[in-house]
Amino acid sequence: MQVRETDARYLCQTYARQPLTLVSGSGALLVDDAGKAYIDLGSGIAVNTFGACDNAWADAVCTQARLLQHTSNYYYTAPMAQLARMLCEKTGLARVFFCNSGAEANEGAIKVARKYASDKYGERARPIIITLENSFHGRTVTTLSATGQDAFHHQFGPFTPGFAHVPAGDIGAMEAALQNDDVCGVLLELVQGEGGVVTLEKDYVRAVADLCARHDALLMIDEVQTGNGRTGTLYAYMQYGIHPDVVTTAKGLAGGLPLGAVMLGQRCEGTLTPGSHGSTFGGNPVCCAAALSVLSRLDETLLAGVRARRALIEQALQGVKGVQDVSGLGLMVGIRTCRDAHDVMNACRARGVLVLTAKDKVRLLPPLNIPMDVLNQGLTILKEELAK
Ligand SMILES: *Cc1c(COP(=O)(O)O)cnc(C)c1O
Repeated sequence: MQVRETDARYLCQTYARQPLTLVSGSGALLVDDAGKAYIDLGSGIAVNTFGACDNAWADAVCTQARLLQHTSNYYYTAPMAQLARMLCEKTGLARVFFCNSGAEANEGAIKVARKYASDKYGERARPIIITLENSFHGRTVTTLSATGQDAFHHQFGPFTPGFAHVPAGDIGAMEAALQNDDVCGVLLELVQGEGGVVTLEKDYVRAVADLCARHDALLMIDEVQTGNGRTGTLYAYMQYGIHPDVVTTAKGLAGGLPLGAVMLGQRCEGTLTPGSHGSTFGGNPVCCAAALSVLSRLDETLLAGVRARRALIEQALQGVKGVQDVSGLGLMVGIRTCRDAHDVMNACRARGVLVLTAKDKVRLLPPLNIPMDVLNQGLTILKEELAK
């Protein structure tokens, strides 16, 4: 109880926390302050890629913490250089900028698009960045502007100008928005996570990519949540047959430590010049060592395992009473339910299973290597609650 009272007294009450204090964990199991165990189907919102306190991950973190925890970006460190190389080799993108979060990665992408156009067409010639309705891109003032949900556009104004929102799936609206050649970039999630686990159609995304190429607008994919194996490929764009100019990621990249990345393709690889961008903690060696450990394990076998777990979840939910549909890709799962999603979440927690919600759906983001039997155990309880 004391933790909750201290939180209530001293923390900004920005989160509607659930009545649960977590103390420790191992893989897909978490333990609360009374010693009760929970099956974790949320991974700290797609962050703990291999669950809690994975051995190889913890070894990589502890080894680097004992060598050197931080330098400034005035100096070189091996983990940062090695991680950038690994990301480029695995994606075919050309260069990486490291930061600390998803919002900061998207801020970086927005700066890249604006500077790319400024370098090429003159300052402020192409200020507009197009994003999609129902998107989520972060909580800074600028990424709130980018976020295409009116609920986020109150009270913190004036917001950063230069964003246009178009409906997802409407290629005519996208074409119209690009018509004036005042657009420097298009930023989109391939599966809208916070928006309710809504997957974009492949044909639509390819058509957007063609339009971007034709209008010399950077195609920027927000893979903060979909990235790092979550959707069954290393990055979700790899399932769409597109070649983005910019890919942002964060959440699962370092498996539980704060690390974000802005990855630049050939077209804009030279855009970020000395002094044009920076981040004190960005590329921190402990976070990069953690990410090297995560990324080096996200091979084809692991990704096939993600897809197999997806198939298992779909099969388990097939025809279950109370389930209206199942959305998303890989281990990013949205479940539209007859019963209120928050009621399902609370009931599952009481029975030792942690799930999330997104909009009016139940959302699952389990660790990518959750053992099949643990996943099945969790699904059994979830199914019973969905059917009530
Ligand atoms: C979570 C999320 C963000 C914001 O990431 P933070 O690390 O919380 O700043 C941005 N975009 C998408 C798609 C996300 O899911």
